[in-house]
Amino acid sequence: MENKKELRNWLDAFKLSHPLVIAGPCSAETEAQVLRIAHELKETDTTVLRAGIWKPRTRPGNFEGVGALGLKWLQRAKDETGLLTTTEVANANHVDLALAHDIDILWVGARTTVSPFMVQEIADALRGTDKTVLIKNPVNPDLPLWLGAVERFYEAGVKNLGVIHRGFSTYEKTRYRNNPEWQIPIDLQNRFPDLPLILDPSHIAGRRDIIFDLCQTALDLNYDGLMIETHYDPDNAWSDAKQQITPATLDQMTVDLRIRKTEDDAVEFNNQLNTLRTQIDVIDNKLVEMLGKRMKIADSIGLLKKKNNVAILQVKRWNEVLGRMILEGEENQLSEEFILRIYKAIHQESINHQKKVINE
Ligand code: PEP
Ligand code: MN
Repeated sequence: MENKKELRNWLDAFKLSHPLVIAGPCSAETEAQVLRIAHELKETDTTVLRAGIWKPRTRPGNFEGVGALGLKWLQRAKDETGLLTTTEVANANHVDLALAHDIDILWVGARTTVSPFMVQEIADALRGTDKTVLIKNPVNPDLPLWLGAVERFYEAGVKNLGVIHRGFSTYEKTRYRNNPEWQIPIDLQNRFPDLPLILDPSHIAGRRDIIFDLCQTALDLNYDGLMIETHYDPDNAWSDAKQQITPATLDQMTVDLRIRKTEDDAVEFNNQLNTLRTQIDVIDNKLVEMLGKRMKIADSIGLLKKKNNVAILQVKRWNEVLGRMILEGEENQLSEEFILRIYKAIHQESINHQKKVINE
């Protein structure tokens, strides 16, 4: 897939003065719930109503969605409010049912994007339609897999495409439900600047309190839209209760968020500068996080040395590390002098950590 302007057409056709807002419950629960949320969202910047009908739950035994019945509720919500509708499809049968109920936008879930078989089946079912399809990142941090899914749709003639960044699973516990790994969508955006990029902060966060900050980072990185799980009674939602926000909170959020897209050249310069700076901030955060992890390992080494009565400083090992990093630096266009300075500082911090552990 080359970088084609036509990818943006569906989004530009909305002529929105703000990023695209897709909002609605994680799951359609009852007709009354879908309609009430739709009416509340109609009073906000929301353009598209989302609701999961078929829910891919990680473990069995949870609410797995109301099924095709919910499509009628979405249709009614659209008739009553004029909002466009979107739901997740995971196979050809879902696609046929969604098309039959005039769902405007289909999204492919993170657990589906990982499977080229399933993606191909959905793409084939959409061949010859002009549906808009939004492809969530795969659960694992794999950019080619994500792009591969986009290409399968593109090659099936589905040209109204966009991607949704919903974060990536990690085995270790972090403050996120799914790690954002901002570098992956940034790389994608650099390669395909015309592919609309939407943030799903709800599934990244897994909790309400950091949704705003995630949205602001995305807007600073020039994302085109937000997909936010919204419910009038989040705590009692049948799925993903902790991460949903109310339509009123969403409304306030869209007022408070700084939006940077503009036609003005001088402002555009500042926006571009800000986007690049946000990219640097993302990397800086990662650098410090990695350094923290490195020091924790140094602590464990300190403990081990203490138990075995071994000296902290081991010159041979240290020279090996330095030599390797100088070569690695060369490959990344970093001068030897720079690597030496940085590693001297890292090494010193590491020794301090080990000393602390040994003296405890
Ligand atoms: C969802 O949007 O409700 C959903 C199940 O998302 P994901 O595929 O990102 O887990
Ligand atoms: Mn959800």
